[in-house]
Amino acid sequence: MSASDAVTDSLNRMRAEFRDLPGGRPADYIPQLGLADPDAFGLALVSMDGHCYSAGEADVPFTIQSVSKPFIYALALSLLGLDEVSRWVGAEPSGDAFNAISLEPGTGRPANAMVNAGAIVTTALIPDAPDEPAFERILHCLGRFAGRELEVDEEVFTSEATTGDRNRALAYLIRATGTMPVDPVLAVDRYFRQCAVRVTALDLATMAATLAYGGFNPVTREQVVSAEVTSRVLAVMATCGMYDGSGEWLLRIGLPAKSGVSGGLIAVGPARFGLATYSPPLDTAGNSVRGQAALRALSERYGLHLMLNP
Ligand code: GLU
Repeated sequence: MSASDAVTDSLNRMRAEFRDLPGGRPADYIPQLGLADPDAFGLALVSMDGHCYSAGEADVPFTIQSVSKPFIYALALSLLGLDEVSRWVGAEPSGDAFNAISLEPGTGRPANAMVNAGAIVTTALIPDAPDEPAFERILHCLGRFAGRELEVDEEVFTSEATTGDRNRALAYLIRATGTMPVDPVLAVDRYFRQCAVRVTALDLATMAATLAYGGFNPVTREQVVSAEVTSRVLAVMATCGMYDGSGEWLLRIGLPAKSGVSGGLIAVGPARFGLATYSPPLDTAGNSVRGQAALRALSERYGLHLMLNP
């Protein structure tokens, strides 16, 4: 069997092994997400030479949700630099749920850019360019990571915009602590749109592979962000990417990762691969049940843990 057949074969085996894993429920606090097919299960891997491997529903579209956060953090770091971004958003694991109302004592900053509070601020930090309004910049950036033009799922956007009072409250609270760079209404509108960008598991694997390759998209061969920016993003993903399951994830799987409430999950093997899964049922921490199981099995079987000394 060729090396590339072996990768596809492993992804297919993971899918077969975990497709009937019980447990979890698709998120429905955003009503439109509750309509997702709970049986959809896609896996994709993109290597540093730009090869794309997939199994199952890897080209089924879904909204990116929180998997957008590391990429917009990368955009903010590229535009403003680490010191300026760090004035607004911290880099400490919060140990709290993704939607927690927790701001750092003293500075009032959100703990990190991977939880909602920090992501709303990060999105708000992206300035309009003379020829491109801020949201177009965000959409364009996500598209460069994915290697194709992406668009917003207007139904999911409207569904979140009409029910997202908690995020709206968070944005106002952040303004009250003095760490909200723009009007909260505008910040949340942009953040909801960003979360509603439509992707597939294959897109997410390409985006993860771009982070793995120091900001260079191995499929389009475009440098999207610098290697330095990528190293910062991966550091925050490693410590904060899996909500309050982040410590356990780093302990067991050992790869920088980010999950989202629509069931997407990415993991990055620096200088090796980008991996992504899509499966909507979530555990209580908001992470995809089957996606985590498959990535854990892949990490254990192939010795992918970053702290593992070969
Ligand atoms: N749009 C979602 C929210 O803010 C994203 C959350 C997530 O994927 O973790 O509630």
